[in-house]
Order: sequence, then structure tokens, then C-alpha cells
Amino acid sequence: MAFISRIMKIAGAVAALTTVAAPGAAEPAAKELFGRMPLPSVSEPASVGFYSKGCIAGAVALPTDGETWQAMRLERNRRWGHPKMIALLERLSREAVQDGWPGLLVGDIAQPRGGPMLSGHASHQVGLDADIWLTPMPNRTLTRSERANTSATSMLKKDSLHVDPKKFTPAHARLLKRAASYDEVQRIFIHPGIKEAMCEAYGGSRANDDWMNKLRPYYGHHYHFHVRIFCPDDSPNCRPQQSTGSGNGCGKSLAWWFTDEPWAPAKPEPGKKPVKPRAVTLSDLPPACARILGEPAPADASLVTYVDGYDPTLARATAVPVKAPAIPGNRVPVLVPIPAAKPN
Ligand SMILES: [Zn+2]
Repeated sequence: MAFISRIMKIAGAVAALTTVAAPGAAEPAAKELFGRMPLPSVSEPASVGFYSKGCIAGAVALPTDGETWQAMRLERNRRWGHPKMIALLERLSREAVQDGWPGLLVGDIAQPRGGPMLSGHASHQVGLDADIWLTPMPNRTLTRSERANTSATSMLKKDSLHVDPKKFTPAHARLLKRAASYDEVQRIFIHPGIKEAMCEAYGGSRANDDWMNKLRPYYGHHYHFHVRIFCPDDSPNCRPQQSTGSGNGCGKSLAWWFTDEPWAPAKPEPGKKPVKPRAVTLSDLPPACARILGEPAPADASLVTYVDGYDPTLARATAVPVKAPAIPGNRVPVLVPIPAAKPN
């Protein structure tokens, strides 16, 4: 029942936030609306929009504990995703046992209804992105407080862009290979130093190109890796990302990461005033996201937790209404910071 009263409170907050958004008045930031939804919508699963600008209907939760995984940072309430994403994480965690991983520590996936977050992450908005720690699961159940406060381990040598082979082991490489080899996986973000280590281990054979090109070097990602899956068939309004192409990505584009250019602080353009990016609002997101915010919620999170034989019937039969937020009228262009250009 605590859940229901919390939903009602949130519904009230959503209504209050959106009714103040008269034309001309500042619209509330979408992260305020999505960041405070405690539960998903109860409906057919559908990812809407792009990985960094969208939302999700009918998300399910990764159970906090499985035989081969533990969900971290529970207080953030970000263990929600498309059922395909959650199923993939559970499968990867089971199969990774063969790679020398007793289990996986799973970080942020998405908020219950996806959308922009109050802290961290530009993407993770449509329930098709998940962070997995590069630290193996310990052989005991972590407490809630340990899951909130334990730090992951960086794979890099101190003050270096290269991995420390004592930390980044062949078992890490095998896990990344397995994850990238799944057909559902669109790309995986890893630190350039980790890509370099993967190129050393697997770059010699063209037979590895199919999955090696999914391992994309990017900033951060030396404590965890980020798995992104393709838009699922049930999500016609999910916007796919460009293909990662062919080749293994070990050549020129990787070498660029070991130059000064990607790490140099951005220089302000002469004569141009820096523009402070405006927060993304509901009207910047696909129109379906406003509707999804207002869709009924499950009576309890356990009804939408993705366990073996998961069946949404009971969740749907006992769903609780949530007041639909008003959809703001006028659309204003959004300014999203764009990372520096880099060779493909
Ligand atoms: Zn991530």
C-alpha cells in the first residue's frame, strides 16, 4: 500500500509541475518528471525515441539478486529496462560463468519510465542501455549499504590511458567478447585503453571483426562497460542508432584516442558567448512520452520484476491509475552538448 500512496503523491506532483507550465512560462525539466516516477507504466513494452532522448512503456525490473548477478546502487531505482534488455543481462550473467565470472554486478539500466535522469548519463533513456561493472560479483550477498557505497575498480594504470594487466585480465576480455557477440547487442562503450587491450588480444583475426566493431572506445568506461541493444521489434517508435560498420576499429580511429585532441579542454570560439544548455522538457521528447508518464502503474514493483516465467497478467489486472500530466503546447529547440568530432 505504501507504493500506492507514493504513486498518488507522485501523480499529484506531476500534475502540479505540469499545470504551472502555462505558455511562455518555464516548463519543468523532463528529468524532474521522469526522475521521480517510482514505478513503470503497465502496458505493452515499447521503447520510444532515441537512446539519449526518449522513454519506455512497460519496463520491467532486474531482480535485485540472482544466482549470477547483484544489482548495485539500489537507491537510484534504475534497474528498469525493456524485457529484452533484462533478459539479455540475466543470460549474459549466467553464460559469463564459463568466462571465469562468478557473477556480474549490474549498475544503472534505466528509470521506471526511462527518460532523462536527475544525475549522470545522457543516454539510458529508453531501457536499452545497461552498465556492467568490471569488478566481479563477490561470493556473498552485498548489503544495501555496500551496494550504495562500494566503488568499482578502474582497469587503468595510474595516470595512464592504458590498462593495468593485473586488473584487466583475460577473463575481462572474454566477458567483453561474449557480450559483443550477442546478436541483440548494437554496441558496447569501453575506455580506449580497454579497446586497445581487446585489439591486442583479438585484433589479429578478421574473423573477430563482426563483434570487435561493436566495442566502441569512449570517455569514462574503465570501471564499467555499457551495453546497448538494438531497437526491439515491438518498438516501432524507437529510433535506431547508426551501424558500427565493418572492420575491427583497431586502426586510425583508435589511435586518435591516444593523441591530445580528445582530452584537451574545449576552447571557447572567439567572439561567441558560451550558451548554457537548457534542460530538456517533456515537449522536447517524443509525444508518446507524456502519455507514458500518465499511464497506470503496477500495484507493487514485485509484479513487474522479471523473473523466470514472468507474466504481466496480474500486474495489468491490478494496475493503479496515475494522473496524466498536461502536454505542454509550444516546442522550443533543445540544446544538447555534442562531443568533439572524431574520425570514424
Ligand atoms: Zn552507461
